Amino acid sequence: MARAVLDAPHFHDEAAAFAYVEALLWPQGPVCPHCQAAGEQVYRLGGNATRIGLHKCRSCKGQFTVRQGTIFESSHLPLHLWLQVIHLMCASKKGISTRQIQRMLQCSMKTAWFLGHRIREAMAEKHGIFTPPLGGAGKVIEADEAFLSRDPSKKLKGPGPALPVMSLVEREGKVRSFHIPDVTVKTLHTVLARHASKESRLMTDGAYAYRSIGWNFADHAWVNHEEREYVSRQDPSIHSNTVEGVFSILKRGVYGTFHHVSEAHLKRYLAEFDFRYNTRAKLGVDDIERADIALQGAKGKRLTYETTGRRGQASAGGATA
Ligand SMILES: [Zn+2]
Repeated sequence: MARAVLDAPHFHDEAAAFAYVEALLWPQGPVCPHCQAAGEQVYRLGGNATRIGLHKCRSCKGQFTVRQGTIFESSHLPLHLWLQVIHLMCASKKGISTRQIQRMLQCSMKTAWFLGHRIREAMAEKHGIFTPPLGGAGKVIEADEAFLSRDPSKKLKGPGPALPVMSLVEREGKVRSFHIPDVTVKTLHTVLARHASKESRLMTDGAYAYRSIGWNFADHAWVNHEEREYVSRQDPSIHSNTVEGVFSILKRGVYGTFHHVSEAHLKRYLAEFDFRYNTRAKLGVDDIERADIALQGAKGKRLTYETTGRRGQASAGGATA
């Protein structure tokens, strides 16, 4: 199936790739990235000696292509190869490794690694102050935390030197995952307060931290994992299996595909897994549409070696910016 999809011209032909990305990023026609001029003010440069996709702005006299101001800027990789990698990352439930990208493109590990992270950046949802919380009246939010081992070869015994991750899932809806500094009441409360609507029903495991903050919600129900209760015996709608499922895909990706995820880049891997979950087939999104959504996120997310290298920080505020 993947073969047939990858037979499309924009995965092989550079001009077709430009046309594809231009249609997605410039639905109203080209826009000058220097001065935002559009319409009559900008035009495509022709001629055989001209680079594919080159445009000129009458207003500021600047030249540009659709790559400018996106994750594709300052990369020498042809656009059609970018589109292949984006498609595969969007279509692979557990992600694809840097080595696999390297083999596919026959490029250096550094190029492959950087490419993967730029695509993750395109997938990342920015939670600004106007982003509404998950859930709402009559909706269920499941919250839980998981620990990712810094060294997957060693079995985890308790939280120890592991990386704590908290996820909130709206049942039948979307997920938001955060790399948090610790699993104290204060941290969990901060994330819930920012990202979960208080009108929702909250469902968790029996951890004390949730019991002490659950009263903020319309209702709080929990299952007692310590007593091997995974679905409430009284009310089968009470469980945290949805968020457990999210963690199981994440762990299979981190341990099976990536083998190792550093603290500095954890939030980008979380963004990648959240993205695929939030555009999953069950919500009516197919592989092609998912790749198109990722492409639209490529705008305004130029990632440089400098910003990639910046140390990632766990954030109790749950900010993913
Ligand atoms: Zn201009």
